[in-house]
Amino acid sequence: MKQRLEILHRRFSKAVSSHSLLYFSTRPCRFPDTHPNHHDDNGNKIDHRIQYDNKKKKNPITREPWDRSFQLHKPRGQHLLTNPRILDAIVRLAGVGPTDTVLEVGPGTGNLTVRLLASAHRVVGIEVDHRMVDALRRRISDIGLDHRLDVITGDAVKTQFPEFDLCVANIPYGISSPLIGKLLFGQCCFRSATLLLQKEFARRLLAMPGDSEYNRLAANVRLVADVELLMDVSKKEFVPCPKVDSSLVRIRPRAGHPPPVDLAEWLAFTRTLFTKKNKTLGAIFKQKKKIAELFEISQIDSKGSRDAGENDGSRSNIARFDDFDDNHGDPMEINVEEKEGVDALEVGPFKEKIIRILNSGGFGEKRPSKLSNEDLLHILQLFNKEGVVFH
Ligand code: SAH
Repeated sequence: MKQRLEILHRRFSKAVSSHSLLYFSTRPCRFPDTHPNHHDDNGNKIDHRIQYDNKKKKNPITREPWDRSFQLHKPRGQHLLTNPRILDAIVRLAGVGPTDTVLEVGPGTGNLTVRLLASAHRVVGIEVDHRMVDALRRRISDIGLDHRLDVITGDAVKTQFPEFDLCVANIPYGISSPLIGKLLFGQCCFRSATLLLQKEFARRLLAMPGDSEYNRLAANVRLVADVELLMDVSKKEFVPCPKVDSSLVRIRPRAGHPPPVDLAEWLAFTRTLFTKKNKTLGAIFKQKKKIAELFEISQIDSKGSRDAGENDGSRSNIARFDDFDDNHGDPMEINVEEKEGVDALEVGPFKEKIIRILNSGGFGEKRPSKLSNEDLLHILQLFNKEGVVFH
């Protein structure tokens, strides 16, 4: 028995020393044994300083602590990643180097931040919850690394991003689409974004044309970036345990190769197509509303409100990124009944022109969910050449 206790003690000391960054080291212990909430949701007793994975007693996992000093808000996606092996793997797979400035969206209590700071030159965190900001600042100050951390208190979707080399984050899943939209279609210039995302969302991001999950999000992201799956992460690795599993993905913008298209025009085009991604293009462009909307936009365009020959991949026209994914509605849709000045006599020939363009490229019977970005770019070019624009 005594021998067993000694072995356990040695393992415990080793675990603590090899994860010394886990602790708010110079402050008194913030996880007293007398903490009133010493039971998990199933009523089991928890030691908040150390939690072992009981199934793997030979190789215990030292979990990140959570002192429950304030309540975590699920609507804000507050699920803390607590497995140090996974946290370490994220930093390693992200390829963080000593000269890198890392952007971390939603650093929370800093489980990932401490590790990023151990490898990076600087970390800039954007965190919306001031309670998290306080906890993070305290923790980083306690390990003496606060001079290498900047924290911006605010909503990452609305806050202007600083310059950074890498984005590495376990983000709140509710902002996945607008955040990726902002990273890729905003003004950012960076090497890669390594993000922990909801597993289903990651699968949609990775889907290829023809896959049942292929969608507007994937088409938009693939236009400007390469995406790869790095690993799946079980929901059990988070506190509190969410309903969904997660996946770590790396998104690498294709630097130096701006797409041969105006990005705002592309986003409007894919919005039109992917709202009904399994219909034929012929059917999509038969919709009265759609025709009236395109007619209107193309009329305005032909009156010269847009500079000619602007297809340089410009991002300046893109003001919002929450309309980046086909899971959202169609905010630009125009109600043809309500719209004044749409002349039925002119719309008829315009509709015929659209059908002619589609058929000239053999696309009338094709479905958006099965088309590659090369095909989509080709169709957009055919439209634009004939004065049909989407933005
Ligand atoms: N990265 C930490 C915390 C993840 S929980 C970890 O892995 O343990 C998600 C974090 O994102 C929370 O701290 C939450 O407050 C923050 N958050 C939620 N919405 C946000 C937004 N719009 N902008 C910035 N941070 C946000």
